[in-house]
Amino acid sequence: MEPDPKNALFIFALQNAVKHNSLPKSGTVIGMVMGKYPGFRSRAQEIALLAKEVLAEVEQLSPDERRKKLVDLAPELIEEMNAPKIHTHELPNLERAENGVVMRFAPNPSGPLHLGHARAAVLNDAYVERYGGRYILRIEDTDPKRVDPDAYRMVQEDIGWMGLRITDIFYQSDRFDQYYKIGGDLIGLGGAYVCTCENEQFRVLKQAKTPCPCRGHTIEENLELWQKMLDGAFYEGEASLRVRTSLDHPDPAMRDFPAFRILNEPMHPRIEAHVYPLMNFTVAVDDHLMGVTHVIRGKDHIANTRRQKFIYEYFGWNEPVYRHYGRMGIEGVVLSTSQMREGIRSGMYSGWEDIRLGTLRALARRGIQHEAVRQVVLDIGIGETDISFSWDNLFAKNRDIIDPVADRFFFVPDPVPFAIAGATAREAHALLHPGDGKKGYRTLKFEEDVVLPGQEFQNDVKMIRLKDLFNVTVDWSSGSPLLTYAGEALSDARAQKAPIVQWLPAEGATRCTLHSPDGDIQGLCENTVRTMQDKVVQFERVGFVRIDSVTDEGIIAYFCHK
Ligand code: GLU
Repeated sequence: MEPDPKNALFIFALQNAVKHNSLPKSGTVIGMVMGKYPGFRSRAQEIALLAKEVLAEVEQLSPDERRKKLVDLAPELIEEMNAPKIHTHELPNLERAENGVVMRFAPNPSGPLHLGHARAAVLNDAYVERYGGRYILRIEDTDPKRVDPDAYRMVQEDIGWMGLRITDIFYQSDRFDQYYKIGGDLIGLGGAYVCTCENEQFRVLKQAKTPCPCRGHTIEENLELWQKMLDGAFYEGEASLRVRTSLDHPDPAMRDFPAFRILNEPMHPRIEAHVYPLMNFTVAVDDHLMGVTHVIRGKDHIANTRRQKFIYEYFGWNEPVYRHYGRMGIEGVVLSTSQMREGIRSGMYSGWEDIRLGTLRALARRGIQHEAVRQVVLDIGIGETDISFSWDNLFAKNRDIIDPVADRFFFVPDPVPFAIAGATAREAHALLHPGDGKKGYRTLKFEEDVVLPGQEFQNDVKMIRLKDLFNVTVDWSSGSPLLTYAGEALSDARAQKAPIVQWLPAEGATRCTLHSPDGDIQGLCENTVRTMQDKVVQFERVGFVRIDSVTDEGIIAYFCHK
């Protein structure tokens, strides 16, 4: 229900005056009231008049009177003002975390990390930061078909880029002997059996909730078969170790799921083995052995959590606290590692850093800062609701980080040469950063010939201002534009609504190719940009860009965002 508008305005005006110890502007108060009560928007005129009255009233009051009135009318607002500022997207607390946590980030080394990984990595990191404890990096490389030898290095690089506070590193490929031992222990507890059924035969039985013949083996028989498996008596597909679950489980994929399999020619880059543990087994065993207290991972792991709990139960281990966050749709980039790999192989993408991909290295190449990724991920949080990733949000966070520090330069896209009639040679001085005079100026020499962005000459423009230099008139009478010096006053340019354009001396600019997800732009930029390799700068009116390489041929830059 909407309150009386005058009252609402009065309260907001008081609150604002008390908070900032000065009288608010009427626009601020109106904005706040309309934001809270959108119904007032259709009554804008009336509200504006009331706001005037209200502000005049508040103005008459002393600071003490304002505070007293506010306490009378809306005590909750005083409390709100005194409360410590809480980040609106604060992560919820975790249960059983008060005495510290052990958490883990457990990527498969199948490629570099992407935005999906960043979510798991940062959320876990943030909780270790909050509660103290250990943060384990566990490289899950037990599926040789999904191991890319280069990924070991890339994953570490990406973790370094994200600044994760990793305290321990484990490679699952170093732990096979432990897995074999615990596999045997599980058999000993009656929790697993060696199954030599053909896959298809097992599948049919499983669908029918019928035990396969191997399920009836005694523990001794199973231990013997298990030893045979380890000794190499079976070929790929001939035997597996299965965890005994309930065959009535509503989800057939849960029924007697496999814990180990045999691979003939696995070609693992780090080890030689033919009996390979599967993810649900290694994750459960390692989470236990490593003392992991909290597992935060995506909803796509819910079924795995159920499987892993069977193993915990057989051994009587204490379960960690599990949290599963919702799915995150990310539009506009490719995230599937296999799709990315295929695209790179076919030449469609230039590599893992191709900016059409959602890898962290592709984001970094564009000038996205790791803190921006971290903040976005923390904002998204661990809620179970599926959400879509907002690029705008990422760009906004990134802009907050780079805008205060990025130097400004001119970049002229699609440059067209012009001679300016009537102007004397001079130097233009443009601030490196408009908000930070201490950074100084860059100097651009003007000597008659300049290059200007071709696109500015598409309509019948009469006057143009060359930024930080002077105005020119544009004469179209001969068909092609002729430019003549027209004074320096910015006010003239404003009065004529003259576009303010980037320009560069025709001699003394550097070729620059700007790659953006929408295509490449060829242009020229200031020579000083040659000293900016690996830095993020702003090409004025174009946007923030990262200077990727500087060679004799010119500069390669990547577009970040506006
Ligand atoms: N390595 C697996 C994955 O990346 C398991 C991770 C987990 O259990 O959190 O999907």
